[in-house]
Amino acid sequence: MSLWDVWCYFLVAKGNGSMDFIKRTIELAKENVEEGGRPFACVIAKDGKILAEAANQVAQTHDPTAHAEMLAIRKVSQILQSEHFTGCEFFILAHPCPMCLAAMYYCSPDRVTFITTRDDYASHYVDDRKYFTLLNFYEEIGKPWQDRKMPMCHHPDPQGIEVYKLWKKRNSS
Ligand SMILES: [Zn+2]
Repeated sequence: MSLWDVWCYFLVAKGNGSMDFIKRTIELAKENVEEGGRPFACVIAKDGKILAEAANQVAQTHDPTAHAEMLAIRKVSQILQSEHFTGCEFFILAHPCPMCLAAMYYCSPDRVTFITTRDDYASHYVDDRKYFTLLNFYEEIGKPWQDRKMPMCHHPDPQGIEVYKLWKKRNSS
């Protein structure tokens, strides 16, 4: 156990309801697996209460973005009527994928607590895709776009930047 782990244990133990939220996250993910879903869940709490919770719905809906975090973020954005999750904490079963991690950066919660690392669950769960594996996903998207496995093209068109100019014109006082 690293010093970071000890620090996190301390934070969670003294967090308002954190131990319950962790239990709830595990329970949600377990129920989802029992119903044929994937082993991921997310609880978003604020002021010691659950604002929203979700389990991964990709298997059920075929929507590749229906990760637990994304679904819970959509609910909380509607509850708060805000894209900024000030005062919120995420509880998630697994360290997030790059999509969900990025979504968390966008909504900027106070903290994200995850229960299992990718190394912890890698030998029990496989979700490798055409362009990445669970273990190299972060490395892959961190590459310059020309070096990524997924072919990408940059095709400049002068009309493209005009859209940004229009936005700036409409949004500057
Ligand atoms: Zn995700």
